[in-house]
Amino acid sequence: MSLLNLPYDEIRGLIGPLDQALYNHQQWSNSLVRTLICRLPADQHDLSAKSYKECRFGQWYYNHAPQNLHTHQGFIAIGKEHQHMHQLATELLIANTKTTISPYDYDNFASVLERMRLEIFTMKRELEDLLYNCDPLTRAINRVNMLPILREQQDSVKRDSQACCIAMMDLDHFKKINDEYGHAAGDKVLTGSVQYIIENLRPYEKVFRYGGEEFIICMQRTELTTGHEIVERLRKGLAKIKIDIGNGKHIQTTASFGVTLLDPNIPVEQSIDRADKAMYFAKTAGRNKTITWEQSM
Ligand code: GH3
Ligand code: MG
Ligand code: MG
Repeated sequence: MSLLNLPYDEIRGLIGPLDQALYNHQQWSNSLVRTLICRLPADQHDLSAKSYKECRFGQWYYNHAPQNLHTHQGFIAIGKEHQHMHQLATELLIANTKTTISPYDYDNFASVLERMRLEIFTMKRELEDLLYNCDPLTRAINRVNMLPILREQQDSVKRDSQACCIAMMDLDHFKKINDEYGHAAGDKVLTGSVQYIIENLRPYEKVFRYGGEEFIICMQRTELTTGHEIVERLRKGLAKIKIDIGNGKHIQTTASFGVTLLDPNIPVEQSIDRADKAMYFAKTAGRNKTITWEQSM
């Protein structure tokens, strides 16, 4: 499951419980260490085999977190480390009443605690990336972040001599969809189209919202002919899907694409202009086409 499938507000709502989990477990582990060192009576909750489900984070994790999150790899990893950590804490507390705890057992607990914190930080970072770097409507990366990322890609083209392809995508006759079905339906078509593109690219390929219904696709380690093929596959696939616009209605849409290499020897903006020119040729050639930029354009 990708976090991209979650509604924007749900993504925002996840950060609080993760922050709480970090804070609460920090407090909890401090008090656990105090209990162990001073050989104080253990909290009964921590002795239970279900302690990982009973702590505040555990209750949220198992009872209140969005259902579809339970198949997200990062979320699963947090749960695994969290459960393991509580189980090790229970073992330490029980052992503490009988014998001295071995450094090995304590280190094991401490490293699982650290792994859990790392997993939570990773997920928080992923959520914050989505919240602050992506366009809330389509989830494409927003324009503010586009040039720095493309310049980084260009640097890696220079460094590793591996080609990188970009494509400009523009929905066809999109204004007509707004006019005919309303702006809310238009938003759904825009979102559905971009989601289709994102889901059908390799995970390290990126989609940026360049303008209203214009997007840039960046395909790293991709030669021009392969880039053209990938975009053609996306174009054909997009034309086939039926996008739900509510009230039982579905719309099919198409897009025009212009493809070019991210040229290492010219400013990134100029490569974007080339992709834009090629896209314009796709429009004038009848739309729903992919055209590769040529010097003569
Ligand atoms: P063409 O095939 O030549 O690209 O025609 P078009 O109608 O797609 O292009 P045009 O530039 O005439 O219109 C683009 C429209 O996209 C106009 C604008 O209102 C709409 N638009 C831009 N951003 C959004 C958005 O976020 N949501 C909605 N619903 N519409 C948007
Ligand atoms: Mg346009
Ligand atoms: Mg358009």
